[in-house]
Amino acid sequence: MRTVQQLSFSAAIAILTSAATLAAGASYDVPAPVVKVAKAAITRDTLRAPIRILASDEFEGRGPATRGDALSRLYLSTELESLGYQPGGENGTWEQAFDIVGVKAKLPASWEFTGPSGKFALKLGDDYIAGSGVQIPEAAINDARLVFVGYGIEAPEYKWDDFKGVDVRGKVLVMLNNDPDWDPRLFAGNTRLYYGRWTYKYESAARHGAAGVILVHTTPSAGYPWQVVQSSWGGVQFELPAEDEPRIQLKGWATEDAARRLLKAGGADLDVLVKQARSPKFRPVPINLRTSIRFENDVSRVRTANVAGLLPGSDPKLKDEVVIYSAHHDHFGIGEPDKTGDRIYNGAEDNAAGCAQVLAIARALAALPERPRRSVLILFVAGEEQGLLGSKYYSLHPTFAPGRIAANINYDGGNYRGRTKDLTQIGAGKSSLDALAKALVEKQGRVLLTDQNPDKGYYYRSDQFSFAKIGVPALYFDNGYDVIGKPPGWGKQQHEEWTEHVYHQPSDQLTDEWQFDGMMEDATIGFEAGWLIAQADEMPGWNKGDEFEAARKKAIAAK
Ligand SMILES: [Zn+2]
Repeated sequence: MRTVQQLSFSAAIAILTSAATLAAGASYDVPAPVVKVAKAAITRDTLRAPIRILASDEFEGRGPATRGDALSRLYLSTELESLGYQPGGENGTWEQAFDIVGVKAKLPASWEFTGPSGKFALKLGDDYIAGSGVQIPEAAINDARLVFVGYGIEAPEYKWDDFKGVDVRGKVLVMLNNDPDWDPRLFAGNTRLYYGRWTYKYESAARHGAAGVILVHTTPSAGYPWQVVQSSWGGVQFELPAEDEPRIQLKGWATEDAARRLLKAGGADLDVLVKQARSPKFRPVPINLRTSIRFENDVSRVRTANVAGLLPGSDPKLKDEVVIYSAHHDHFGIGEPDKTGDRIYNGAEDNAAGCAQVLAIARALAALPERPRRSVLILFVAGEEQGLLGSKYYSLHPTFAPGRIAANINYDGGNYRGRTKDLTQIGAGKSSLDALAKALVEKQGRVLLTDQNPDKGYYYRSDQFSFAKIGVPALYFDNGYDVIGKPPGWGKQQHEEWTEHVYHQPSDQLTDEWQFDGMMEDATIGFEAGWLIAQADEMPGWNKGDEFEAARKKAIAAK
C-alpha cells in the first residue's frame, strides 16, 4: 500500500518494537509513523465518500432486510476487501446473518385483577402498556399472584439482592424502574447503570422464572414521559429469535397512578413499598391480587446480517486476541413522509457517519507498515435501531471468545459541525480505557468531558453495550459541543435543534454544510486508541467493582 513505501525501514522497525502499555502512568505515545499513516487515511474525502453513498436515496434508508440493506452490506464488505481485509463473518464469508423477529401483541383493552374486594382493571394505554415476552401466536398468564420485588436487582458488587432467594416462579412481578440513586456509594449514585434499565428488569424476572412484569413508570425514574412508553411499546417489537434463554410472557408498564390504585386494590401502599425497597434488607412482598391475561401476537421474521472484516494480528500469540471496531449500518428505511413529503430516512449522521469513521480507521490500520500485534475486527452491525440486535447477535455468537476480545470501540453518529474543544466520553469511570481516552483527547489539545446526562443511561443504548455485557471493556464517545470559531452555546443549540428536527427523521441527510475536520479528529482518537490497545501487552480491564467486572472474569477464565 502506498503509505508503506513512504515510510523508512527504520520507522517501520520502530513500530514493530513499540509494544505499548495500558498500565496506569503509561505515556500512550503513538509513534510518528503511525500518526502519519492515520493522517493520510482519515481525511475529509475518505469520511465524506462513504456517507455520500450510504445516505444516498439509492440506498433507501438501509431498513433491515430491504434492498438498501443488501446494498449497504455489499458496499461495506467490498470496501473492506479492497483495503486488504479478510472475510470475518461465518464460514469464510463477509457476513454473519441472523433473523429479526417482529412481534405485535394484541393486548386486551382492559387487564383484570382479582383482589380481596373484588375485581380491579387496568385500561390499555391510559394505565398500562405491554409487549409480548414470547414469539409465539399466543401469550398467556394463568391465575398468577402479584409480588412486589422492589428494584428487581441482584448485584453482588453492591451486596444488593432484592429477591433473597424467594421463589417467584409463575408470578407477576411489580418492579420499580431505575436503580438506587440516593447514595453515591450505591449503583454509582444518580448515574444509571444497566441495573436501572428496563431491559435488565425483564431479564431479571425471566431468570427467576416469573410469568410477567409490571414496571412502575415515573418520569424521573424512566427518564422520559409516559407518552414515550406508549409510542415505543404500542407497535411491533423487534427481537432476535428466541433461543434457550428463559422468557416471561408479558413485559408490562403501568403509570405511577395506575400502579398505586392497583396495589391499593391488593391492600398495599405504593409509598410504603417504595420506602421498603430503598433498603438492602428488602424482601419481596406478596400482593393480595391474582391475574390471568391472554393475548394474540402477530409474529413476523426477516433476515439481515452483520458485516465483518478481519485484519490478522502480527504477534504469533496476541493475534488470537482482537480489538473490535463497530458501527451500525442500518437505519429506518422508507417510512412515514415528513412535512416535505420525503419518505427516505437517509440516516447520514445516524449512522453513515459512524460507518465512514470506522472505514477510515480500517483504512489507516491496513496501511500501517507493520500490522498491529492483536487482530482487528471491523464489524458493521445490523438492526441497531430495532434494539442493538446485530451487536447482541454477535455477542451471543462471537467469532472470538469474549475473553479474547481486548476491547470494543463503537461509533454511533459523527460530528459534522466542525472542530470542537471538547469530546464527551459516554461511560467514563468504568474501565482502564478512561486514561487512554483522556491522554489521546488531550494530545489533540481538547478536553475530555464525562457524560452530561448520566441518568439517561446512554452507555446502554448503542452497540458498545452488547460488548460490555459479555465483559468486553468498550469505548464510546459523543460529539463535542464547544465548536471552535462559534460563540459559546452554539454547538449545544445546534444539537438541540437537530434532536428536534433531524434525529430519526428523513432530514438526516448529507448537505454542503457538513464540516469534516472535527470528525477527522474524533476518528483519529478511535484509531489511536485501537492501535494502542492492539499493541499493549495486557488487555484493558474494568475498574474494580464495576458492574461488568464479573462478566469479564468469567470470560477470561473461559478463554
Ligand atoms: Zn445510531
